[in-house]
Amino acid sequence: MSKSIPPIVPMSSPDLTDADRQAVMAVLETPNLSIGPKIQEFEAAFCRLMGARHAMGVNSGTAGLHLCVRAASIGAGDLVLTTPFSFVASTNVLLFENATPVFVDVDPRTGNLDVQQVAAALHDLSAGGESARRRLPRKGAPDRGRLNGILGVDVFGQPADWDVLRRLATEYHLPLIEDSCEALGAQYKGRTAGMLGDYGVFGFYPNKQITTGEGGMIVTNDDAAAAQMRALRNQGRAPGDTWLSHTFLGYNYRMDELSAALGISQLQRLEELMHKRQQVADWYARDLKGIPGIEAPQYASSTTRASWFVYVIRVASGVDRQALAGRLAERGIPVRPYFLPIHLQPYMVERFGYQTGDFPVTEDLGARGLALPFSGVMTEEQVGLVCQALRASL
Ligand SMILES: *Cc1c(COP(=O)(O)O)cnc(C)c1O
Repeated sequence: MSKSIPPIVPMSSPDLTDADRQAVMAVLETPNLSIGPKIQEFEAAFCRLMGARHAMGVNSGTAGLHLCVRAASIGAGDLVLTTPFSFVASTNVLLFENATPVFVDVDPRTGNLDVQQVAAALHDLSAGGESARRRLPRKGAPDRGRLNGILGVDVFGQPADWDVLRRLATEYHLPLIEDSCEALGAQYKGRTAGMLGDYGVFGFYPNKQITTGEGGMIVTNDDAAAAQMRALRNQGRAPGDTWLSHTFLGYNYRMDELSAALGISQLQRLEELMHKRQQVADWYARDLKGIPGIEAPQYASSTTRASWFVYVIRVASGVDRQALAGRLAERGIPVRPYFLPIHLQPYMVERFGYQTGDFPVTEDLGARGLALPFSGVMTEEQVGLVCQALRASL
């Protein structure tokens, strides 16, 4: 048994200041701990940053994605094209509504949806018959499914190829959802990530670019969808409903005032937080150069600004990743395989009958990806320690 020592570098850390702490404490001096002025202020700040007509704070990124699925009228019998190389939430929100995720494999460089394969899949699915069946899971798919949506993910802080996804969504009349939970501040051909679909969602878990503890934000220019999502996050209360009258079946997906106050304070520092993360990524790129057996992250030319979320290297095909992770743990360096493919998670295999080999690029990235410790508060020395340990362990 190899033994790990307590980490000498944390896997991730929030970047908090006294101003952030003061902002939260100030809310505790007021009687409004939920549904107060801070959520409105946070949403207004997001609208300005994104150039969005509507922003809606929610209590997690997952909740935000779920509301987008509801607003897009995605439900039972619907087929939604999405990626198996993501955090599970982007697929789970489709399952919450009994829609069927139809996976398309990803681009080997970026890990984002391979848009040529998305085009081919849409073509096959709309043709029907055997060519459509080939695109569906072995079991668990509806007999006569209806194409109804594309849910793309901006993986690791890099936007997917949204011009193509938009063109396909228009051609096939599909709602387009952007899971930008890992990409706050990123830009695609100079445009803001999160605003590239019909609805975009950000997440504020403590390892994200900004944090509210738990929390998320939906952005959209669709007035009707925004009104519906506001009602659904607040237990289905429509405008004019009293506290105990509920027009719709809704949820409690509200963001509280303490979280919103922290979010306002963090968002004011977004540029600084992104710069610090970029600096840490630059140190990694420099110190990893020349270490054999690993590849640094790669970026598409359409990514005019990356927003670093995690720092995921790929080990070469011959390297035993698990053994490497074990040797790093012995040196106090925590690392994490990133992502484990969604289609091979136990509940997905059971429901849809997926097998190894179904999405080879996703599986290859999943087998070789290793997230290194990463945050905006890491020091140059800590990056050096991680890279030294990597060099010694390979
Ligand atoms: C973080 C994340 C989410 C949202 O996660 P929550 O923990 O619910 O805030 C959704 N999708 C992706 C790809 C994420 O990385």
